[in-house]
Amino acid sequence: MTDIISASEKIAHIRKEIERHNHLYYVEAKPELSDYDFDKLLEKLIALERQFPDLVTPDSPSQRVGGTITRVFPTVQHREPMLSLSNTYSLGDLEEFYNRVRKLLLLEGVHEQDMVAELKFDGVAISLLYRKGILVRGATRGDGVQGDDITANIKTIPSIPLRLPDLGSLFALGEESEVEVRGEVFMRKEDFEQLNESRPEEDRFANPRNATAGSLKLQDSREVARRKMSFVAYYLKGYDDDAASQFQRLRQLEQLGFYTGGHYRLCHELPDISRFIQEWDEKRWKLPYETDGVVLKLNDARQWAKLGATAKSPRWAIAYKYPAQQAKTVLHAVVFQVGRLGTITPVAELEPVLLAGSTVSRSTLHNFDEIERLGVMLHDRVIIEKSGEVIPKVISVVLDERPLDAEVVRVPLVCPECGTHLEKPEGEVSYYCPNEDDCPAQIRGRLLHFASRDAMDIKTLGKALVDQLVDLKLVGDVGDLYLLQEPQLEMLERMGRKSAQNLVRALDESREKSYERLLYALGIRHVGQATARELASAYPSFSLLRLATEEELATVPDIGPVVARSICDFFSKPSLPDFIDKLERAGLPLCASDPKEQVNRNFEGISVLFTGGLERHDRQKASELVLERGGRVVGSVSKKTSLVVAGREPGSKLDKALKLGVKVVTEDEFEAML
Ligand SMILES: [Zn+2]
Repeated sequence: MTDIISASEKIAHIRKEIERHNHLYYVEAKPELSDYDFDKLLEKLIALERQFPDLVTPDSPSQRVGGTITRVFPTVQHREPMLSLSNTYSLGDLEEFYNRVRKLLLLEGVHEQDMVAELKFDGVAISLLYRKGILVRGATRGDGVQGDDITANIKTIPSIPLRLPDLGSLFALGEESEVEVRGEVFMRKEDFEQLNESRPEEDRFANPRNATAGSLKLQDSREVARRKMSFVAYYLKGYDDDAASQFQRLRQLEQLGFYTGGHYRLCHELPDISRFIQEWDEKRWKLPYETDGVVLKLNDARQWAKLGATAKSPRWAIAYKYPAQQAKTVLHAVVFQVGRLGTITPVAELEPVLLAGSTVSRSTLHNFDEIERLGVMLHDRVIIEKSGEVIPKVISVVLDERPLDAEVVRVPLVCPECGTHLEKPEGEVSYYCPNEDDCPAQIRGRLLHFASRDAMDIKTLGKALVDQLVDLKLVGDVGDLYLLQEPQLEMLERMGRKSAQNLVRALDESREKSYERLLYALGIRHVGQATARELASAYPSFSLLRLATEEELATVPDIGPVVARSICDFFSKPSLPDFIDKLERAGLPLCASDPKEQVNRNFEGISVLFTGGLERHDRQKASELVLERGGRVVGSVSKKTSLVVAGREPGSKLDKALKLGVKVVTEDEFEAML
């Protein structure tokens, strides 16, 4: 019993530390601990909780790493409808809104009209429900009346407190107490860029908002935890509702451990509001996240209900959106890039122009449908825009200024890299170069992807070197890399003996990379890091994966029919057997090195209690063996306990087990069961 008591104290202590560091890092942005030390702390907690599963609680920080798979998100009712705000782009509309609120307030005999101005985060609105201070539900806005219950995914977001602090006099955590917090889940620019880098080019998200919306809907919460999302809170209900101003409530949210962004201001007059809007129009580009406007709310929350709402939006609040940043420039040329999957992308070469704080000289035109839609011609004056998207895009042509030498942008008939006739598969918007095996652009793209940081991480294999290797036909696929010899490499431009040795060593080291990395590095269409991870755990070797049918693949979490089809296509290419042979001879990891999946799961559903000293393994190792096989380890005996393992000098738990009729085995018998 003392074991479990001291463990429970230890666990409580570590949890407190973790939440404190989480708050310092994600809310206050003043970390005290390195990422490494933080991970160590979390690992320690997870190990302890594994040993004492009875001590796991829903508010433990270990819940943040995810692990649950949800097939269908249940629908839940919102306690009060989640209305969306009406939007405006004009300061005139804003003034109208302000005057309308004043009239309505005067009807109520209220003369004071303070407004709170908050930055508008471009994210996904959610509602959090805390019962007795513990987070019990996280739901999407849905249609405003009912949304999806995505609690497991929500818990992985570090800036969302899993438990509210008990602030004593302010708030008594009664049996029935329910607190609702609403806000926006969003992705910081840096986290968004990192996420996109880890994905196949064809599956990148257009902007942080899309990435957030997509991530919240994932079925595997472990994957959600890797997506690094943040939460900003702006609504509080059920907690000290006497605090009747929005300004006070924002402060209270901060006291409760939520992130509010901090950039809100109490405005007494209309000019204060305009000033706030102007100020942030400039400053917002320096923020680590994207904001697309300012939200204004009547500060006196007691008046909200009286002012009420129209069918869609409340009358006491409005969102002002900044007009997108635009610039006019000249389209000099359109060049065609060939991606590693053969996709032809038209890219606009522009007269360099300053836009939203940076110089822009190129912009993607996506595909030929887009060129047609815009009606853009060479030498045209075009308007480019930067709004939610990170990359600026051409949005329109200034037809009045079309020059006499304007020329139609022609679809190339052949691949600019290899001369093969281009194809446009039915139902798709892009043209492809079908010369998969020999198109130099595609080979280069595959090699660079293979060597990239999240793939095999071969730093010495850069663009200049890849160009030479492909031009000289020294390398035709990634398997050929491992046949390269130092003397051959030394003869290349800018290579020398030292660089040649470095490359050979780097290739050598890459053999030690994991099987799931290799799966990602092969660059199968639609297979990003996350999909590669799922595939590696469902099919721990290449030989198993090759045999999988489309239907089987589609049952793996987060793999849809399109991805399943593309994996099957990859494995049914006629050149594949030779390619796999080459990879095998190169000594690349064609199966998982730690094939956990192959351990039998014969303890599934069985709870085991250890008592007394063990001879063969220590307590921790024995617990791990049970966990690996799908069982649970418990700290106390009850009728529900399936098995008691009695070691040397067993304690009172053995007597209790015998009394309750629980099955008791010796350590040797346990070993045999394993
Ligand atoms: Zn080609």
